[in-house]
Amino acid sequence: MKKDIDWTSLGFGYIKTDYRYVSNFVNGNWDEGKITETENITLNESACVLQYAQTGFEGLKAYETANGRIVCFRPDLNAQRMVESAKRLEMPPFPEDRFIDAVKTVVKKNIEYVPPYGSGATLYIRPFMFGSNPVMGVKPANEYQFRIFTSPVGPYFKGGAKPITLRIPDFDRAAPRGTGHVKAGLNYAMSLHAIVDAHKQGYNENMYLDSGTRTKIEETGGANIIFVSKDNKVITPKSNSILPSITRRSLMYVAENYLGLKTEQREIYKEELEDMKECALCGTAAVLSPVGKVVDHDKEIKFPSGMEKPGEITQKLYDTLTGIQMGKIEAPEGWIVEIA
Ligand SMILES: *Cc1c(COP(=O)(O)O)cnc(C)c1O
Repeated sequence: MKKDIDWTSLGFGYIKTDYRYVSNFVNGNWDEGKITETENITLNESACVLQYAQTGFEGLKAYETANGRIVCFRPDLNAQRMVESAKRLEMPPFPEDRFIDAVKTVVKKNIEYVPPYGSGATLYIRPFMFGSNPVMGVKPANEYQFRIFTSPVGPYFKGGAKPITLRIPDFDRAAPRGTGHVKAGLNYAMSLHAIVDAHKQGYNENMYLDSGTRTKIEETGGANIIFVSKDNKVITPKSNSILPSITRRSLMYVAENYLGLKTEQREIYKEELEDMKECALCGTAAVLSPVGKVVDHDKEIKFPSGMEKPGEITQKLYDTLTGIQMGKIEAPEGWIVEIA
């Protein structure tokens, strides 16, 4: 039985579901882990996460497919990426096979919250990990908690397929040899002021430049960027300080192997924005959100696809990727993991 929720009017926000997974790392080992009903966490006031932001997270979704199965999309890549985040933040990696099992278990326990096929909503899954014991001098914690909770969500950007406007901010997101490539809470803490400021000025999001030279396009606060050039190539920026989005990697594969398009991952200079025909943000939350316009201080770059609807190739990429996720289009080997 599905929960009594108005699925079609959901936004992207936290809704408490019934169960979550928790495992603790104590005395050098992850315990066996368990499902719990309590959403609150009690921590010491000097817990490493509270003082020094030692925390990383992941995000993926569970879907109901056209034929009523509950599946998730490439959870192995989230498990891998969380290991990379943990290493960079000096946290003990949570084993990849246990990560996938825990995702399946939590979704199964909250199965009544998986939005119905066709509603446009999905069950967002949020794994995260943090240093939990008190520290005072700057050092990693030696106790950790790994958790996974879920929340039914609708579209990240209100209006769904309506193109959004980005601005190039005077703030930076990630340092060249910093933590931009791992999914760390700290990358988001420093983006909060920039996003609040962008919203105040009437923009949907920030398009960050590389902070080393401020000449190349990187990504937004929480999504990668893909462009379509005037000669129909799908191009995405290359940089060591961009978070390796699973959605972006999947879309590039779809562009090449399903749509027969040429793809490139390379450095993209700000000046090249004017040579692009389409632009879109991609990520688990954003899926593929069309961008109609970029504002760089006193200069406006309007993409030929306009402000009314997604560009043609953006739309095809969106339809193919979501078709694969919803079980309407055959998926590449291993992309769809059945939960129930
Ligand atoms: C999570 C995230 C993305 C999107 O990654 P997906 O794996 O596609 O969800 C993009 N940029 C940043 C900064 C992120 O944290």
